[in-house]
Amino acid sequence: MKVVIVGGVAGGASAAARLRRLDEQAEIVIFERSGYISYANCGLPYYIGGIISDADDLTLQSPKSFNSRFNVSVNVLHEVIGIDAASKCVSVRNLSTGEEFTESYDKLILSPGAKPTMPQLPGLDNERIFTLRTVEDTMGIHAFIEQFKPKRAVIAGGGYIGIEMAENLRHLGLDVTIVQRPKQLLNTLDQDMASFVHAKMRAEGITLKLGSSVTGFESNGSGLNVLLKDEAPISTDMVLMAVGVSPDTSLAKLAGLELGIKGSIVVNEHMETSLKDIYAVGDAVEVKHYITGDKALISLAGPANKQGRIAADNICGIQSVYRGTQGSSVIKLFDLTVATTGINEAAAVKAGLSYEKLVLSPASHAGYYPGGKIMTIKLLYEKESLRILGAQIVGGDGVDKRIDVIATSIRAGLKVTELQELELAYAPPYSSAKDPVNLAGFMADNIVNGRVKQFHWDEIPALRQDENAFLLDSRTPGEYARGYAEGFVNIPLDKIRQRIGEIPAGKRVYVMCQSGLRSYIACRMIEQLGFECYNFSGGYRFYNSVYTEQATAQQCWPCGMDK
Ligand code: FAD
Repeated sequence: MKVVIVGGVAGGASAAARLRRLDEQAEIVIFERSGYISYANCGLPYYIGGIISDADDLTLQSPKSFNSRFNVSVNVLHEVIGIDAASKCVSVRNLSTGEEFTESYDKLILSPGAKPTMPQLPGLDNERIFTLRTVEDTMGIHAFIEQFKPKRAVIAGGGYIGIEMAENLRHLGLDVTIVQRPKQLLNTLDQDMASFVHAKMRAEGITLKLGSSVTGFESNGSGLNVLLKDEAPISTDMVLMAVGVSPDTSLAKLAGLELGIKGSIVVNEHMETSLKDIYAVGDAVEVKHYITGDKALISLAGPANKQGRIAADNICGIQSVYRGTQGSSVIKLFDLTVATTGINEAAAVKAGLSYEKLVLSPASHAGYYPGGKIMTIKLLYEKESLRILGAQIVGGDGVDKRIDVIATSIRAGLKVTELQELELAYAPPYSSAKDPVNLAGFMADNIVNGRVKQFHWDEIPALRQDENAFLLDSRTPGEYARGYAEGFVNIPLDKIRQRIGEIPAGKRVYVMCQSGLRSYIACRMIEQLGFECYNFSGGYRFYNSVYTEQATAQQCWPCGMDK
């Protein structure tokens, strides 16, 4: 059997290695357009920022080492330019010599990845404008920085690549501005959770221009101007275009493969395309979203690697299936970690799902052991089935661990209330006897079983106007003095029993504390003292982040400022 693979990085290299492990006799040929195979896309921004100092560390394998280990013929600087599915061969151009030739196959795997989306903007051909996808792109940016010592950079796009590059360019001392058309960075987060990201970026000296659109570029002698819609241009020394990626599927289109969203390749659960003996994997393929079941494009290394393995399995007679992508992701933002899995609230609304959300702010490990960091977890579940729909976590230590536990729970089909039952490893430096994920399960159980009713930040403006609502802050007077939500009266948790008379009979009580724990205890007490009580999801910390961000972003501000 002869297998030809187009693209020799995440999906392609993974498929080749698995094929060899399954079939020692197969002839395996990789064609890779760039000069490298099996390189670490995910590490590229960190080489530019100098965190990874040795360029060799970016390439996990060379064509020679890959061949030595897996006996695969690896042809870098070779672009596949055509597929003849009827005669089962591909046309290949040697990019070093210009020579073209055909190569036959029994099975063909396409793993061409995704390319940076490039809107048709005037001035885009300026040599100070970059994109980041390959090792060559990385070296180009690195060389430019070394040679021209830019002081300012504009990044168009505030997704994962844009944000990682912002951090790395900042690390090199550049003044960095991110211009992002939506009013928030990282669209895998809801706007409320993104408030932490915005605050962090600003605290690190990165300028955010949210809700702004780039309309073009103009050379201005020593640098360039980034033109914005209805705003003054930004003068800068370099630009990174990172407004998203699109499946790199011109080859698949030419070959007549069935295409889906944004020209992605349609595959079945065995990674087979619409044409016999042609498989496709990675960023180029349309996947089923694991949570919604909808068609989706999700560009992540984990899915690409797994799909490569699954394609190889099927070629070798193992009926592995790909069940969908849930979008588990994690990103470092200076000393912040931001992680997501499943869908966010915006996506749940779009999918028409009936969901409940909860927000909690637990510590990464036991409070008495030094160094614990608060994280904010936002968890969504389906009301009827209690199926976990997704989670977003922002914090420091331990965020990656908690998102992975929740991601695993989603795959295992656990109900949200079952999170309380998970027995997770504990010692004070690592966690608490009740892990943050357990706490989310306890909260959900309390809500599902009617022991706690909650309210959310966006309900507060209306509650301030509601004469039957009593807004109570259950933190200490010291905490209250440092900042509180307008309209909330301070009665510390430990004084509520004595001062219950201060709450007018018949009013509904809405309680906030710093993280949501003391307000929960207060709520249980107040309910049993005869009031209807609601607990604020996320605590003042979360409230403050969301509303400070709203004020900073000068968005609609219907509810007055806080002290
Ligand atoms: P790729 O790994 O991109 O490989 C496709 C290869 O195919 C390319 O090298 C291309 O040159 C080659 N090719 C295309 N067409 C042809 C052709 N006609 N002939 C020959 N060769 C061809 N994901 C994460 O999960 N976590 C991260 O932290 C993360 N960070 C990232 C950072 C950056 C800067 C980038 C660019 C991506 C990052 N990703 C990350 C995404 C991840 O790298 C991709 O999801 C993954 O590499 C996709 O694998 P793939 O095989 O589909 O495509």
